[in-house]
Amino acid sequence: MKGYIEIDSELCKECMLCIEVCTKGLIKKSAKLNLKGFYHVMFEDKEKQCTGCTLCAIICPEAAIEVYRG
Ligand code: SF4
Ligand code: SF4
Repeated sequence: MKGYIEIDSELCKECMLCIEVCTKGLIKKSAKLNLKGFYHVMFEDKEKQCTGCTLCAIICPEAAIEVYRG
């Protein structure tokens, strides 16, 4: 199954849990600060490896990640 995610960078608080949980390594720390002063994460999936497993969204304490499948 293929999927993709969208991250609300303004909700992100830089906890990095989503980076640890993504077995495909598709979430990375960005060099950009959000308005609250956190380095938010970003989704990078050049080879379309995201399975839509939802682990990243489930573990995010800020509900900053939406997962889409298809
Ligand atoms: S849905 Fe799964 S594969 Fe896709 S970015 Fe999140 S943890 Fe990684
Ligand atoms: S789990 Fe949520 S709050 Fe933590 S780094 Fe990922 S997107 Fe940001």
